[in-house]
Amino acid sequence: MASLSGVAVDLGGTKLAAARFINDTLVERLQVPTPRDGGLEAKLECLTELVTALKLTAVDAFGVAVAGRVDGQGNWHSVNHKTLTGVTSVPLKDMLLDRVGCPAVIMNDAQAAALGEARFGAGKGADPCGFITVSTGVGGGFVFGGNMLEAPSGLPGHIGFTRNSYASRLCGSGRFGTLESVASGTAIARIAKDLGRDIDSAVDVFRAWNAGEGWAKTIVETSACAVAEACCDLRALLGLERIVIGGSVGLASGYLDQVATAIAGEPELFQVEVSHAILGHDAGLYGALSHAKRES
Ligand code: ADP
Repeated sequence: MASLSGVAVDLGGTKLAAARFINDTLVERLQVPTPRDGGLEAKLECLTELVTALKLTAVDAFGVAVAGRVDGQGNWHSVNHKTLTGVTSVPLKDMLLDRVGCPAVIMNDAQAAALGEARFGAGKGADPCGFITVSTGVGGGFVFGGNMLEAPSGLPGHIGFTRNSYASRLCGSGRFGTLESVASGTAIARIAKDLGRDIDSAVDVFRAWNAGEGWAKTIVETSACAVAEACCDLRALLGLERIVIGGSVGLASGYLDQVATAIAGEPELFQVEVSHAILGHDAGLYGALSHAKRES
């Protein structure tokens, strides 16, 4: 495989990161909070500033990962309209070319992290390999023979929007009873609030879980069981050899053990190895640039 050199961007709901790689090494990384106000224009302005600081030129490989769905034409769409607002068929590929003068290869952020972990991180040696991020939402990606599973719709990997037997609420995607609606950090916080708990975020629920509070145990373990069920479904559907689990909820202390315990309760044929993501917040950067290299 050609070595990784060029510029990558990861545009998430909370942070906007950009990095330059030379020969597989991340040599410079910049990060700012994703602008909350100013809509798309403010995000693009910020992105342009970061890649300009990294001296992006027209000859660089340029990979961009974004939260949401990216179709085969490089158009960007939100799927869960509650967690990603104001993104309706945005021609991101064309807009970026206008602004930075370098053609970008654009992809979903969880798919980028899946590719990064499969090629450079915790998925190395497992083929086919899956990745699930349990974060603000729930996303993922699948890598076969070192290549990401893709389709013109940009949907492969959106595991958060599959139905799950632990879920019983309407999801921001419009589907009822999705994995994301029961397992994500947003869902964990919302369920706790609906129980009348005075919490700010999923972090407080995990704190209560670690302190042994029963209400928090039910919420966190239900999330983990839901993810485990999805893992076994993916094993049945795609024959995955390993599933790498990332995201701040997925990486929270004790969570992966709960997922593994629930998987162990399934028939052996559908059990799949799960492991922690190891590239952390850089996985999407590695994956986005790696994909850009393959595509160019
Ligand atoms: P993003 O969704 O932008 O990729 P994260 O992976 O950090 O970001 O996920 C954010 C979600 O994870 C939020 O719901 C937040 O409350 C939750 N979260 C952050 N830190 C922790 C933690 N240490 N333990 C459990 N949940 C966490």
